Amino acid sequence: MPEMPEMETYRRLLSTSVNNLPITDVVINREKSINVPVVTFRNELIGRKIINIRRRAKYLLFDLDSGDSLLLHLMLGGWMYIGGEDDTPDRTKQIIITFNSKQLQFIGLRLGFLHLLKKEALNKKLENLGPELNELSLEKWVSLLQKRRGKIKTTLINQEVVAGIGNLYSDEICYEAKVHPEQTSLTVEQLSNLYHAMVNVMKEAIHYGGYMDNPLYKEDNLVGSFYERRKVYDREGEKCKRCNSIIQKIKISSRKSYICPHCQIVSA
Ligand SMILES: [Zn+2]
Repeated sequence: MPEMPEMETYRRLLSTSVNNLPITDVVINREKSINVPVVTFRNELIGRKIINIRRRAKYLLFDLDSGDSLLLHLMLGGWMYIGGEDDTPDRTKQIIITFNSKQLQFIGLRLGFLHLLKKEALNKKLENLGPELNELSLEKWVSLLQKRRGKIKTTLINQEVVAGIGNLYSDEICYEAKVHPEQTSLTVEQLSNLYHAMVNVMKEAIHYGGYMDNPLYKEDNLVGSFYERRKVYDREGEKCKRCNSIIQKIKISSRKSYICPHCQIVSA
């Protein structure tokens, strides 16, 4: 599932591609992906422009010049492509938004959605999310975490604690901080290491365009290039880059998690 760096990469690239272009057509092939009748959705979009694209946690918010917004969550398997009628992946598109010859295509939205919302409804949807990483100081992080029990991986992926971290980056962050993902009580030093690991891993991931499988447009060679740089996630059986131990896959409350059994040890 796309996490903060994937959505942030999309936000940056889409902002330079579709902002301020008039929407000339909208095709909905899967009504469940939207929250209003197709005719309403089309009427509210056609002739409008996207004036700003924001990101909150793993959501993208497309602000329209009408004052309404589109709230996108890609969930598991969703992705986007900017192309045209002759430049399009051979996949079913659940939604296509057209800007004259350019199309923004939404693919793999099985659980994902694109909801048209008024400002109040949008704010209500997002009100329980925790802070973005760039709004979270080390002091605030330490005090937040000292109040929590439970395994650190579970806490890291809890969107109400910190917004935007999911299964892949939580493993990378724990590895970077040399903390076992099942560690429950953490010292201030471990919390500090985790904080700096969060900041560094997410910064690098954004720089390298996150880990999406598919490019956003034909000549895109940014999106997804972080995937080769990951240190542990989905690297079971490979050598740890720090100590040469063999990376293991474990299960934490039915989620898969990857660790170096030498660098990451549960401490008392
Ligand atoms: Zn190691």
